[in-house]
Amino acid sequence: MEEQLHAIREEALKALEEASTPSDLDQIKVKYLGRKGAVTRILKGLGRLPAEERPRVGKLANEVKRALEKALAARKEDLEKTAPEDRLISGFDPTLPGRRRPYGTLHPITQVMDEIASVFTRMGFSVEEGPEIELDYYNFEALNIPPDHPARDMQDTFYVDDKVLLRTHTSPIQVRTMEKRQPPLRIIAPGKVYRCDSDVTHTPMFHQVEGLMVDTDVSFADLKGVLTLFVHEIFDPETSVRFRPSFFPFTEPSAEVDIQCVMCRGRGCRVCSQTGWLEVLGAGMVHPAVFRHVGYDTEKYSGFAFGLGVERIAMLKYGIDDIRLFYENDVAFLSQF
Ligand SMILES: [Zn+2]
Repeated sequence: MEEQLHAIREEALKALEEASTPSDLDQIKVKYLGRKGAVTRILKGLGRLPAEERPRVGKLANEVKRALEKALAARKEDLEKTAPEDRLISGFDPTLPGRRRPYGTLHPITQVMDEIASVFTRMGFSVEEGPEIELDYYNFEALNIPPDHPARDMQDTFYVDDKVLLRTHTSPIQVRTMEKRQPPLRIIAPGKVYRCDSDVTHTPMFHQVEGLMVDTDVSFADLKGVLTLFVHEIFDPETSVRFRPSFFPFTEPSAEVDIQCVMCRGRGCRVCSQTGWLEVLGAGMVHPAVFRHVGYDTEKYSGFAFGLGVERIAMLKYGIDDIRLFYENDVAFLSQF
């Protein structure tokens, strides 16, 4: 009888160790401690033993019973900790937190372009669009770019054929809009442009926003006012702005617009080549030759035009130093915006 009890204890403990689910534990409990279990049967049969053996065997049987109860409880606790899937009710565990799905955002270039458009539409500008595959006439000729101008060089422009090309700027939309409408005119033209160029600050495709305002009595002061307000809205109301004389075939006079370096606040750093200034826009008063192409009365109307690179603005706004990051579609980069 005593030997039997020792064997039962050993067998039960081994089975407990191998148990991997709560239902395994239930089976073990029934097999050894249940109403017809092995230990229970021995306890019930104590009365049939000789009187002198009874206390010893009874004591041992109770010890085995308690040891098994204790081991069962400990194993149950273990399983609850290590195997949460066993708590599943038909495959569903209501205690698990929900799965968070990653969500997308607008591309940083789209965000900056939307922001630029919103600044100008608040100043009464409307948004115009034009074709990306453009006629030479709209891209160059009507914008007073003579046939020998370096911008027409095959190295800069993607030509489809002699007369058709991928637009190199969004300025053709100016001409297309002026052909259709009479002043007063206040438009911006955001979109993709193409140039045969690729390095840390250039990609073959990039985005520009072109602007045009035409009316009676539009002066250079209006240009300065509109563009200064734009810079203050996009960057910081404290940012200094300066206008530097420049040359573009389609404006006269022309200016390049610099802002105080957003990285060093004008003290001089690597980004601004120690000058404290960053060029962000090209602008000027519309050249009378452009007005003549669309049939506007140059005695009556005047206007200004400007153009800016969206990638350039986005790089300065977010402190990005390589333009190619915008087009690698690296989720780790894009998800920061
Ligand atoms: Zn700087």
